[in-house]
Amino acid sequence: MTSIRLSGITPSGHAQLGNYLGAISRWVTDGGPEDLYFISDLHAMTTTHNPAGLRSRATEMLAVLVAAGIPPEHVFVQSDLARELGALTWILECTCSYGEAARMIQFKEKAAGQAGVRLSLLTYPVLMAADILLQGASEVPVGEDQSQHVELARVLARRFNSTYGEVFTVPRAVLPITGARVRDLADPSRKMSKSNRDAVGVVFVLDEPDLIRRKIRRAVTDTQSTPAYEPEERPGVSNLLEILAACTGTTPQEAAGQHASYGALKEATADAVIETLRPVRERTRELLTDPAELERIRKAGASRAAQRGEHRLQSALRLIGAA
Ligand code: ATP
Ligand code: MG
Repeated sequence: MTSIRLSGITPSGHAQLGNYLGAISRWVTDGGPEDLYFISDLHAMTTTHNPAGLRSRATEMLAVLVAAGIPPEHVFVQSDLARELGALTWILECTCSYGEAARMIQFKEKAAGQAGVRLSLLTYPVLMAADILLQGASEVPVGEDQSQHVELARVLARRFNSTYGEVFTVPRAVLPITGARVRDLADPSRKMSKSNRDAVGVVFVLDEPDLIRRKIRRAVTDTQSTPAYEPEERPGVSNLLEILAACTGTTPQEAAGQHASYGALKEATADAVIETLRPVRERTRELLTDPAELERIRKAGASRAAQRGEHRLQSALRLIGAA
């Protein structure tokens, strides 16, 4: 049996270059035939959020994933399964102790010192367990910050299976397939992120070419003038070299040797990023101007994902004493 790998992307902002080079493009080229990708919009509601903005970013993210080349039948939007996931989350909350949820490092970090913390910030790892267990995913590619949540999903799956009856595949966290790590152009000490308040150093997948060029021209470098790949000492210029290398299929060291000045490197990087993102941007725009087609893709994905989990949800409800 091939393993089902499940990856989510939260529409906490617009898809940015790091998401594309580090994750989305790799999902397209290296993903397995059973892999599933979902837009985790319900996860974007655990802190203050704007409903209309969230809805439009979720739609946009769906369009970006499909435009990037992920087969539409492998993609779905989490909130389209709100009923199934709501029911399964409840079952799993009844399988999870309060202490287990309250121990989550992310919860402790994000809740610390905050007033009016949403209960969902505490329970969201249980929703994440429901995402994983409903689909019968066996592997969940996650970074270090999410591995504790996958561990919780493992514990809950095992506990449910041994207490009530075998229903769930016990998932495990695996290392994600990753491409380049992209840093913020304006502050290369931090990574590029879609939820950054300050977007001057963030290239978005849907940015127009001239905006991309302006952002890259303004990228922070250092006082030297000849490109060299030294990520620790010269993070800004090394970031440009990594981006250029990822877009052109070379190594950062090779890219350094091909450009005599920072100016030339920035122009080459801008050209490469613009050409890399162009087809994705154009196809995304096409999809966004064809809401009927996007809706068709979305509904088909939702119905496939719901069907995939239906028997597990029904069995779990029955075994726990409901339905
Ligand atoms: P947020 O600010 O909401 O955390 P993000 O841009 O960091 O957004 P995530 O939703 O955390 O994006 O991650 C989605 C995927 O993109 C993950 O696989 C993550 O490893 C990858 N990714 C995110 N940022 C970068 C980056 N700067 N470089 C490479 N990969 C990245
Ligand atoms: Mg992140």
